[in-house]
Amino acid sequence: MTAILLKGKEIREEILAELKSEVEQIKKEHGIVPGLVTVLVGEDPASVSYVTSKIQTAQNLGFKEVQVNKPETITGEELLELVHGYNRDETIHGILVQLPLPKHIDDKKIINAIDPDKDVDGFHPVNVGRLVIGPSEVKFPPATPAGIFEMIRRSGIKTEGAEAVVVGRSNLVGKPIANMLLQKAEGANCTVTVVHTRTKDLAFHCKRADILIVAAGVPQLVKPEWIKPGACVIDVGVNRVGEKISEKSGRKIAILKGDVDFDMAKEIAGWITPVPGGVGPMTITMLMKNTVNALKYKLGII
Ligand code: NAP
Repeated sequence: MTAILLKGKEIREEILAELKSEVEQIKKEHGIVPGLVTVLVGEDPASVSYVTSKIQTAQNLGFKEVQVNKPETITGEELLELVHGYNRDETIHGILVQLPLPKHIDDKKIINAIDPDKDVDGFHPVNVGRLVIGPSEVKFPPATPAGIFEMIRRSGIKTEGAEAVVVGRSNLVGKPIANMLLQKAEGANCTVTVVHTRTKDLAFHCKRADILIVAAGVPQLVKPEWIKPGACVIDVGVNRVGEKISEKSGRKIAILKGDVDFDMAKEIAGWITPVPGGVGPMTITMLMKNTVNALKYKLGII
């Protein structure tokens, strides 16, 4: 058996096209476009590259995009002031503060200062609470889990009554996706198990999974024999396992592997995400969707 590949890049293009036409429609009917501010502190190369992709995507969709770059020396108080300013700015509907922040700044304090109705990352405790209460309360599901949920939904994978096993319990991926799949709602209604480093028998749980979501950050943690034939396997892990020379650019690039032994697993699973090119491309797309929704909530059209 060879699994169907769940390609985030293709699903991303589908969603971006939908968002673009929504933005045009809102502009036509209400004379306003989504406003997104991206705040970057310092010059960490991974953060710079990630923020650049967010900015480009927002611009391509026709958002008002505000970029704020601040030096590492900015104080927590100054950053709080900045956030308060964008909370008050009527033309800004989404605020993204790139994490991690420098050590001298308490990132929880900054996240908690963002207006929950502009917190398109979905990290504010109010939005975490909304996600747990769900489904009608949910406003801004965090982007990576939202991307996973959307991939499953758009691929027509049956979730109702399915055994979903989530490997990892982080606030970023494991806990939110477990909550989303647990909801009494279309595209969810799973029986969810969350496993972690203290779980006694990881293999036992994985083997029961109709939907297996792996977000551990351990290369090839999940062995092919742990996969139930026909299961949907979502590999969130992104692990740098070496370097190679790119054929395209001639430059050194990282060799990335997921948390699942992809080559073997694809012969057993029914659906599987590749790494890279699976879950990864969905994250920024879902941030954009949250920003469009932030404006729609404000206009009272959802
Ligand atoms: P994290 O905060 O480090 O959490 C990892 C979780 O996995 C923890 O709950 C940990 O358990 C569990 N875990 C680690 N090793 C394990 C093992 N041997 N057996 C069972 N459980 C184990 O990581 P994260 O932020 O959730 O990210 C996970 C992976 O997804 C990383 O590779 C990250 O790069 C990737 N990621 C990708 C995207 C994307 O593609 N867009 C976005 C976010 C994250 P304990 O709680 O017991 O320590």
